[in-house]
Amino acid sequence: MRILVTGGAGFIGSHLCERLVKEGNDILCLDNFYTGRKENIDHLLDSHRFELIRHDVIEPVLLEVDRIYNLACPASPVHYQYNPVKTIKTSVMGMINMLGLAKRVKARILQASTSEVYGDPLVHPQSEEYWGNVNPIGLRSCYDEGKRVAETLMMDYHRQNAVDIRIIRIFNTYGPRMALNDGRVVSNFIVQALRNEDITVYGDGSQTRSFCFVDDLVEGMLRLMNCDGITGPMNMGNPTETSILEFATRIISLTGSSSRIVFKPLPSDDPKQRQPDITFARKTLGWEPATDIDAGLKKTINYFSRILASNA
Ligand code: NAD
Ligand code: UDP
Repeated sequence: MRILVTGGAGFIGSHLCERLVKEGNDILCLDNFYTGRKENIDHLLDSHRFELIRHDVIEPVLLEVDRIYNLACPASPVHYQYNPVKTIKTSVMGMINMLGLAKRVKARILQASTSEVYGDPLVHPQSEEYWGNVNPIGLRSCYDEGKRVAETLMMDYHRQNAVDIRIIRIFNTYGPRMALNDGRVVSNFIVQALRNEDITVYGDGSQTRSFCFVDDLVEGMLRLMNCDGITGPMNMGNPTETSILEFATRIISLTGSSSRIVFKPLPSDDPKQRQPDITFARKTLGWEPATDIDAGLKKTINYFSRILASNA
């Protein structure tokens, strides 16, 4: 199949492109390199099955494809808050452009939505039926509300124009190829630990997250895309929940670091708890994460060790 992956040079997108190329598909990787990097896809450039397009999804694009995975959007709070107007344009105008393309060429389209549509959730764990608790005017709104509008657009193009859609709500995902300067907790803690620098826990560290290894997520994305008759939204993540303070301790122990934990102010609207209810994915796709957190973290730590050594 001919498959378009927007945001394909980013962390998740590069793993997705790699897997799709391996399975014998022709990939068009579209990226504006805001947070994506050529290093993430260097190893794919020699394949005749892989093509790279530098393009911004807020501008329309004319292509002929069978499937679209729409991942273009910065995912780290540091990056999506750097230019919030651009972030919301990316989610909304990018979604309209990709849905217009899907409609014209009759392609199936999967949108990378997020657990952030649940905001600071009052229901725990979060299932797909929960409508969320999102601040519409805060610092995270450009991302959260952008992704919520993108879901609305997906559903309306589906109802109004019969576009074949899949919505996946991704919970915190980690793994090799996260950027060194990404700013999210996994890369921050690992890089700080490997450099024996202070580990920066925001707030008192009692807030929770549930971390999913990237290979597991990509497997789930493929299963949802290839499954007939399900639009989603569908949660995908690892239900194993941990507090950020426990997580810092785990990284110190896995890296054997001499880092100390220091506490920094909690960013505004930082969700207090987050854990996916993945019953829907389990029942319909037979999907659940297969990678144990320590095994996934070890692979990620090895990756960052190599990057730091090559930058030294
Ligand atoms: P990332 O920042 O590594 O990747 C995003 C990619 O999109 C980058 O390559 C970036 O250059 C590209 N991009 C950004 N704006 C663009 C634009 N206007 N036009 C074209 N390309 C653009 O982030 P990621 O972690 O790989 O996330 C990928 C997708 O998954 C995002 O849509 C994100 O919202 C979603 N998601 C990720 C997580 C997670 O934990 N990683 C959780 C929930 C949702
Ligand atoms: N966090 C932290 N130290 C860091 C980076 C993040 O304590 O150096 C916290 C952050 O406040 C949040 C959690 O870790 O409570 C996850 O943050 P991340 O930015 O990875 O993702 P998100 O908040 O979008 O889930």
